[in-house]
Amino acid sequence: MIQMYNVSKIFDNGVKAVNDVTLHIPKGDFLFLVGPSGAGKSTLSKLIFREELATRGKVLFNKKNVARYKGKEVPLLRRNIGMVFQDFRLLPKKNVFDNVGFTLQVTGKGRREIKKSVPAVLKMVGLENKSEMFPKQLSGGEQQRACIARAIVNRPPLIIADEPTGNLDPVTSRDIMSLLLDINRRGTTVIVATHAWDIVNSMRQRVVALSAGQVVRDEEKGAYDRCR
Ligand code: ADP
Repeated sequence: MIQMYNVSKIFDNGVKAVNDVTLHIPKGDFLFLVGPSGAGKSTLSKLIFREELATRGKVLFNKKNVARYKGKEVPLLRRNIGMVFQDFRLLPKKNVFDNVGFTLQVTGKGRREIKKSVPAVLKMVGLENKSEMFPKQLSGGEQQRACIARAIVNRPPLIIADEPTGNLDPVTSRDIMSLLLDINRRGTTVIVATHAWDIVNSMRQRVVALSAGQVVRDEEKGAYDRCR
């Protein structure tokens, strides 16, 4: 699904955030992206989402170079990618149902489809009884579930979660990671950038470790060695 060939990203200030990364992520993968703060995890995600363009090298999404998506075509690429953030980014004045439904609305889906799809996805994330609540009435874990529901409601083939448990307690963090794994088992490719080494170690999924913008480790059923 994603192929990166010798990808580097050098920002205008000269910082080399990603340095000669070659990485292949097949459809159906569940991948943890780990590494210390500043290692380049967010930048790598942004290169896939085409929020940043590579300075060198190629990023392919479903065999198409993401740099080829120009102007109005960029949303077509992004429709394939559900984003989940550490700080949730829910719309504060919309309830859970409308936060999730909004994703469908902006892609031109009608009310009937919204009324059908949103309850199903809220059930999947365990929020079926919270659809009328507003973000500030929810716990952190519930807000993250709403954010995940919003990311998956239009069935994108890829989810990228950037530090999804950064603001959550350990037990809730595990629940959120299990939910992401469930979504992966239903066929969605999932990339999780995280510092949560204990969860990474226990889940035994593919681990790609970045250090100073380079891939220093790529292991199937890997662990997150805190010392590296
Ligand atoms: P991580 O997500 O692993 O914490 P980032 O990808 O956010 O790492 O950052 C990698 C490096 O790139 C850091 O040194 C950071 O300061 C730098 N960086 C990130 N975004 C920008 C930007 N827009 N302009 C300049 N430097 C940036």
